[in-house]
Amino acid sequence: KGKRAFIAGVADDNGYGWAIAKALAAAGAEILVGTWVPALNIFESSLRRGKFDESRVLPDGSLMEITKVYPLDAVFDNLEDVPEDIKTNKRYAGSSNWTVQEVAESVKKDFGSIDILVHSLANGPEVTKPLLETSRKGYLAALSASSYSYISLLKHFLPITNPGGSSISLTYIASERIIPGYGGGMSSAKAALESDTQVLAFEAGRKHRVRVNTISAGPLRSRAAKAIGFIDMMIDYSLENAPLQKELSAEEVGNTAAFLASPLASAITGAVIYVDNGLHAMGVGV
Ligand code: NAD
Repeated sequence: KGKRAFIAGVADDNGYGWAIAKALAAAGAEILVGTWVPALNIFESSLRRGKFDESRVLPDGSLMEITKVYPLDAVFDNLEDVPEDIKTNKRYAGSSNWTVQEVAESVKKDFGSIDILVHSLANGPEVTKPLLETSRKGYLAALSASSYSYISLLKHFLPITNPGGSSISLTYIASERIIPGYGGGMSSAKAALESDTQVLAFEAGRKHRVRVNTISAGPLRSRAAKAIGFIDMMIDYSLENAPLQKELSAEEVGNTAAFLASPLASAITGAVIYVDNGLHAMGVGV
């Protein structure tokens, strides 16, 4: 039987989430996505109007089908968490059931179970500020949206993830090496995400026979990365200094996710897998 994937963090066709969805679809998986509530309308209408059709083409010539798009805000675990100003916010009031717990319940109601969970989302409101200038609020917001969001998703989706299933998140080398410009506590958030990958691999492995890995991806000109402001510089730096001097394509990260989700990776869990043209292995730029 075909596998079913839920991919959180798809709102256009430029990011890693979209590329992962495509690679999983090409491998025969059914695709469900979770889209950030404020981005939902534009994503769904673009999808409907055919704006992404060119990017939907799979290797066999068919178009990727997204079976269902769920509104999601991964900084809220359940309705009790949602403050009044968000509840009444115009962009949120138009949708319902978008907290993590409610999305998991909806997926269970609609489909019963999943096999693959992907977390491809991050947010750090103060990402452009150095760590020394980051507020407590900004730091905690980065951790909430980029790290705890993964714990929460896994916690709520594990009960409906079939044994043998696989869960994947996206991280960045700034967790372990100094990358000036990746501020606001985002480097801290990725360090937490990588450490949590190990502990969650243990807990999800023992309890549900589900594998948990994270892909440390090289630089991609996604919407989120453009907001950080230094993405072109990071792409140039990688081109100049990485062992493989080619631009990284989102597809290469998608293919790795498809491998990690497949039985070919049945003994891989708790790992950080680098998909960065080898840049992580360099000690100095040459
Ligand atoms: P992207 O803009 O395609 O994806 C980020 C998504 O997160 C967006 O769709 C956004 O709407 C969503 N999002 C933000 N806050 C959310 C919330 N509270 N609830 C639900 N969704 C929310 O950009 P991307 O660069 O492909 O990012 C995907 C992942 O890849 C992130 O974890 C990012 O840190 C990681 N990553 C990116 C790069 C890069 O260079 N682009 C490198 C390494 C790792």
